[in-house]
Amino acid sequence: MTTQLPPRWDLSNVYPALSSTEFEADAAKLNTMITEMEGLLKEKAAGTTGSEAVGELTTLASQLIDRFNQLLLTAGTLRAYIESFISTDSYNKEALRRESEFDTVGMKINQLEVLVLAWIGKVAPRLPEMFKAEPKLEAHRYFLEEYARQSKYMMSEAEEMLASELKLTGSNAWSKLQGMITSQASAEVEVDGEVKKLPSPALINLRSHPDGETRKRGYEVEDKLWTSLKVPLAAALNGIKGEVNALNRRRGREDAVHSAIDMAHIDRQTLEAMLGAMQDSFPMFRRYMKAKAKYLGKEKLPWWDIFAPVGEVKSDYTFDEAKEIILTNFGNFAPELKAFAQNAFDHNWIDAEQRDGKRGGAFCMDVPGVGESRILSNFDGSFDQISTLAHELGHGFHNDCAVKAGKTEIQKFTPMTLAETASIMCETIVTSALMKEVKNPEEELAILESQLNGDSQVIVDIYSRYLFEKEVFERREKAELNADEICEIMEKAQLATYGDGLDERYLQKWMWTWKPHYYSAGLSFYNFPYAFGLLFATGLYAIYQQRGPAFVKDYMDLLASTGEAPAADLAARFGIDIRTRKFWEDSLKVAEKRVERYCELAGY
Ligand SMILES: [Zn+2]
Repeated sequence: MTTQLPPRWDLSNVYPALSSTEFEADAAKLNTMITEMEGLLKEKAAGTTGSEAVGELTTLASQLIDRFNQLLLTAGTLRAYIESFISTDSYNKEALRRESEFDTVGMKINQLEVLVLAWIGKVAPRLPEMFKAEPKLEAHRYFLEEYARQSKYMMSEAEEMLASELKLTGSNAWSKLQGMITSQASAEVEVDGEVKKLPSPALINLRSHPDGETRKRGYEVEDKLWTSLKVPLAAALNGIKGEVNALNRRRGREDAVHSAIDMAHIDRQTLEAMLGAMQDSFPMFRRYMKAKAKYLGKEKLPWWDIFAPVGEVKSDYTFDEAKEIILTNFGNFAPELKAFAQNAFDHNWIDAEQRDGKRGGAFCMDVPGVGESRILSNFDGSFDQISTLAHELGHGFHNDCAVKAGKTEIQKFTPMTLAETASIMCETIVTSALMKEVKNPEEELAILESQLNGDSQVIVDIYSRYLFEKEVFERREKAELNADEICEIMEKAQLATYGDGLDERYLQKWMWTWKPHYYSAGLSFYNFPYAFGLLFATGLYAIYQQRGPAFVKDYMDLLASTGEAPAADLAARFGIDIRTRKFWEDSLKVAEKRVERYCELAGY
């Protein structure tokens, strides 16, 4: 039997090459579009008072929407094409140069967005008349109303422009520094009887090494490494959080969470309901951690054992086997989902081969110019990789539903909270099917471990990150925080969430150093949306189990419109009330059943 290598992706229908005339032409076109839109905004829109005739306002709004959609389409296509090279070959100098050129384009697009926001703010009271007069505006209602609402939290145009330019030397620079320091940091550690110099991501990955002593050594070496780098990293965090606080204050935001929930398309009541249910579930997750400790022969779980492997599962799937498993189970859910995945496999939308220079992990990206998606993964034959592939295909299907429904780029914009809906559904479809086929307790335990480890990260660890970030923002308002104070805040947050699920002597106070999520000025609280995504998709899956095939049409409509309404309204279509705890508690019950079975198998 010959085993074929996992496939590489094909983007030849997008552009022939990075150096092709087609690519150059689109890059030039994008620049022209930016200049023209800038002209339109500065010449025509700048003079708008809001008392113009409705026809005049409608024409301008239509033009702005068309141009913005066009611009996002072309920019998205160019960016995806460049990314397809960078992510699979980090040595590609031409792609790196193109990417850096694109940074400036990104800033210009941001500035255009500020001008659009300001203009919509000026015409906000006239929007109802404009919707009536022009169907295109009605079709973009959510975007326009949302921008009108957000425009209240704007400084003057001049201040916004200055802030956007200063970002490049402020938070963006700090964020790059954090990325540079953590990706170039390395340390020597003994692994499999050999002293090796490991880059920090590989060092962190030792936490899932099968040997307990190696995991512990990795933890100790990490402690020394981050101690030596704590000063510049604390400076970066202070710089970014300080800038966000200053801007929030000047924009009239209530607090740091305010803009994060707006970006997530949810409200405070929803966040509180979800966080409350999560908090109530901590004792259940701690039980899982205690059972895991017992399985590993320990009294309590030290931090370095959180990711320790448990049980044993088949790990030599070929890519073709993975493909068959996915197609069969997708087909059991809906013919549309199977057809989508079949097409993705047939047309090489997936880059699954592991190779030098290719980035780790997995992602799915839209290629709007051709109305398709591309998926990157690192297929190693493991069970986890099958579920990852199903997850990423779910993202692709989500995009496909929007494309097939004829949505524009603006309509397609989906907040992080809803972006994981289809991916987690697809992952659940495949893993629940495989769970039914398990042959022995060790295999069942391994699959449960993979699910519960993921669940507890998204519920317990994410909550600790939320608590941490909240306190950092609050205290940064008064003064800078030194590295030791930041570490204390992290340990406190971990104690409040993991509690006695872990050995309190060995927490991980350095979690803030290498997680890039804390270092994004544009996206604070890059944490609770993960929990929302998991619990929302889990709740939807439960509804699918009750309703069967009748669920599919509503579900596909939901996926097509995740950018066009607040999360609560979209959920209400399924009779779900996300502002009350009940929905979130029901979703968490799925994890509870897993914990029960896990404890049984682990003899706890
Ligand atoms: Zn995802």
